[in-house]
Amino acid sequence: MNKTGKVWIAGAGPGDARLLTVRARQLLDEADVIVYDALISTEILSLIPLGKELVHVGKRSGHHLMPQEEINTILLKEAQKGKRVLRLKGGDPFVFGRGGEELELLASRGVPFEVIPGITSAAAVPAYAGIPVTHRDYTSSFHVITGHPRKGGVSRIDYQALVKAGGTLIFLMGITSMESILKGLMEAGIDKDTPAAVLEKGTLAKQRQVVSTVSCLFGEAAKAQIGTPAVIVVGDVCLLAEQFHWAGDRPLGGREFLLTRPRQSMSGLAAKLRELGAQVIELPAVRTVTIDPNPVLGQALRELAGWSGERWLVFTSPTGVCTFFSQMMKMGMDIRDLCAGLYPAKFAAIGTGTEKALHGFGVFADLVPDVYCARSLGEELAHTVAPGGYVMAVRAREGSDELFPPLWAAGIHAADIPLYETLYETYGTLKEKISSMLWSGEIDGVTFTSVSTVKGFVRAVPLPHYRGIRAICIGEQTAAEARKYGMQIQTSREASIDSMAELILEMFGDKPCKNSR
Ligand code: SAH
Repeated sequence: MNKTGKVWIAGAGPGDARLLTVRARQLLDEADVIVYDALISTEILSLIPLGKELVHVGKRSGHHLMPQEEINTILLKEAQKGKRVLRLKGGDPFVFGRGGEELELLASRGVPFEVIPGITSAAAVPAYAGIPVTHRDYTSSFHVITGHPRKGGVSRIDYQALVKAGGTLIFLMGITSMESILKGLMEAGIDKDTPAAVLEKGTLAKQRQVVSTVSCLFGEAAKAQIGTPAVIVVGDVCLLAEQFHWAGDRPLGGREFLLTRPRQSMSGLAAKLRELGAQVIELPAVRTVTIDPNPVLGQALRELAGWSGERWLVFTSPTGVCTFFSQMMKMGMDIRDLCAGLYPAKFAAIGTGTEKALHGFGVFADLVPDVYCARSLGEELAHTVAPGGYVMAVRAREGSDELFPPLWAAGIHAADIPLYETLYETYGTLKEKISSMLWSGEIDGVTFTSVSTVKGFVRAVPLPHYRGIRAICIGEQTAAEARKYGMQIQTSREASIDSMAELILEMFGDKPCKNSR
């Protein structure tokens, strides 16, 4: 392996995960270590695959959590260990991002690096508020200025020059010194009725804005309790917000959802919700771990092979199918071991996904219930299998309780054999962020697509109680599990991603106006 690693200094954009550049998105997957700031949104953090080393060097204007030199040293040290280091910064790394300072040490030590520009908040935050930073009818330039005073509180802004230039003025890091910035502009002769706006948490679901004038903005922003991060925009283009607002108008604009589902199968719903304007946090990362060795399975298979009556294998997930066949192979058995005698083994699958996985192993399912759920599967089996038959469910540990009662009632011998466990893992930092967002009510709803996602969620995100959570559930069983924790339940009509998206749209599509003007 290459001895020296490499550092990618990349912009993550202003917050909306879809504003990551293609390259930055790739690097989330490729990096070994990710060094990130406080401004990196939870939605973006939730895209980071498990197994990365995350270093939070969150520094916000005013209270630096970590001195710049220390960050520079971390980048150097990690690269020298041979790692691929992604330095993820809010917006663009070279727009008030200290990207240049971070490169100095790397360059002087000969550490290879690349810079990936990002979408700067200076342009994107106004854009999401419907404010074009330039417009031929209003202005021919825009100026990006830091509102953060130098040490000792002295501002270095040349207000005379700014007012004379007459372009749109965009102040970053200007919230704490907003009053003095606006005063400085007025003292330099700007018309006090010049339109001005403050835009908070731009591009994120909870973005807010106040549009006013240079003389009134400070008072109105205080009234609206505008906080950081926020951008101040001064210039006639601010008037266009009235006409061009769009972000909050999207069907799910202003809404934020937490999706609990294994990443691969979840992206369909995530993409749909994002398309409708919602912000989506994908949690948690689910990992399945095969129970191996599995003596219980070995014993059960021998029993099944020797069974003289009807015998059935029941699968409730594609993972179960794959795990089952690989375990059989490991035990030196093949499917013919279960097909000798009067009753060759029959196969049941809970739904089409599982049925398809069986096809992959050359098996056509003998039974797939009309309704995709454990209870229907149990009931249909109970009708199909003759009393004295043997039904063996090979599935996840902690599978649904509803599969077996109909079988027992019909006098069928049934065994529940766990093949794998579902583990919910995610980064500690993400758990903390999500817990606090749920607790504060910032997240509008949480989706659950199986009983195990509910179980995994409460394990991954421990809260004093879950009563404030609006749970959007895929079926009755999932709903029953969520109800156990006191969540507020809504259940989709059908067990499909489309039906979930429809329900979410019904619940949240009719939203109050979120922009205070
Ligand atoms: N490199 C960043 C700027 C870093 S300075 C960029 O190119 O965007 C941090 C300042 O950026 C904040 O104080 C705020 O003024 C602005 N900012 C960043 N993200 C923002 C957001 N989502 N909404 C509003 N302002 C934001």
